[in-house]
Amino acid sequence: MSTIWLRHVDAVTLDAEGTVRRDTDILIENGRITRIGTVPDDTRADEVIDASGHVALPGFFNAHCHAPMTFERGWAEDLPFPRWLNEKIWIAESALTPDDVYWGAALAACEMIRSGTVGFNDHYFYMDRVAEVAAQSGLKAQLTWCVFGIGDDKEVGPGLDGTLDFIAQWQNAAEGRIHTCLGPHSPYVCPPDFLERIAALAQARGLAIHLHVAESQEQVENSRARHGKTPVEHLRDLGIFESRTVAAHCLALSESDRAILAEKQVYVARTPITYMKLAMPVNHVSDLHAAGITTALGSDGPASNATMDMWEIMRQQAWLEKYLRQDPEALPGDTVLRMATQHGAQAMGFDGSGVLAEGAPADLILVDFDRPHLRPRHDLIANLVHTGKGADVTHVIVDGKLLMRDRVLLTLDEERILYEAEQRAFRMVNQNMSRMREYQG
Ligand SMILES: [Zn+2]
Repeated sequence: MSTIWLRHVDAVTLDAEGTVRRDTDILIENGRITRIGTVPDDTRADEVIDASGHVALPGFFNAHCHAPMTFERGWAEDLPFPRWLNEKIWIAESALTPDDVYWGAALAACEMIRSGTVGFNDHYFYMDRVAEVAAQSGLKAQLTWCVFGIGDDKEVGPGLDGTLDFIAQWQNAAEGRIHTCLGPHSPYVCPPDFLERIAALAQARGLAIHLHVAESQEQVENSRARHGKTPVEHLRDLGIFESRTVAAHCLALSESDRAILAEKQVYVARTPITYMKLAMPVNHVSDLHAAGITTALGSDGPASNATMDMWEIMRQQAWLEKYLRQDPEALPGDTVLRMATQHGAQAMGFDGSGVLAEGAPADLILVDFDRPHLRPRHDLIANLVHTGKGADVTHVIVDGKLLMRDRVLLTLDEERILYEAEQRAFRMVNQNMSRMREYQG
């Protein structure tokens, strides 16, 4: 494996002390950071990068997404949530093919690498095709084949048994870059006995779980009426939280729900742009932090958010919380930057990532600060959080391997992906226009 030597870089380490080192060197060997500081002049490296004017920081981990939904970007806009879902998204998804999923995820991978994401936590269908993209792109990924448990005719793909085959094939594949986990869609569509079966399987096989939880107060009321419990209490009692769990959203929580999530060390993934764009009521993420819950950030699907650029998501999360709380001190820059990087890495089981430290996996990005919107450099974290953009990322390194050098993608055929993905997305929409007419009778 190659050795990369970054020279004269400013490093935002995100270590426990929040150390920022100006004009330092970083040496990467065998996939790991082996030195931060002065590197001897006679060091031999396969690649020496003069990174003066650049900032190095841990790459982003997108903690909840549906990458193949790039196909629906810009196709279901300005609609209330039930119409967005019923008239557009579910109909579109019924026409998806495994090849569509491959090209949709490949398009997402190009976008993610270009904006500095090094890992993504994907929850969708035909996940073997997303796994191919993860393997080819060099990204890290935790992949979940979504299951409903409500009958074969309603399942997209092979059901739970098929997803277990997927897990057996892909767990720790691509030199350990791919993690797989079990993915019941949510407690509101999955029957309790099915969730219990998933919980038992996860424990027996040491698998993580990724699902949607408590997206609205209405879901909480329905859960109380049906089970006599909140969704969080219901999932705890079924044993779901006995395994490492990523719970997406958690927008309607009681105080005791927050205590349960903290005690069970459930990771909560928030997707703030979806909430704002679909006008969904949200609770305060800082209340989750006060309860001791680790939260991470995600894009959700590009059909609801439109962008997979974690810079946008990080910034909108910071501003949303400040605005909702009417408190400019809420969610400071260091906190939101950790949500977007190391907390996502932990949620996806990539524990050593998300920090620039000797011995840590080399999952990092370089950001070009020789740009008007990033000067002056009083506070690098403030500039990263409040004015940084995906287009400022010049280099992306995962496990010590360059995926992008000077904004050129090295692992994916971007031109072909842009063409194939768009043609297929157009075809899907055309198929859906006739289905739409059927739906509307
Ligand atoms: Zn989602």
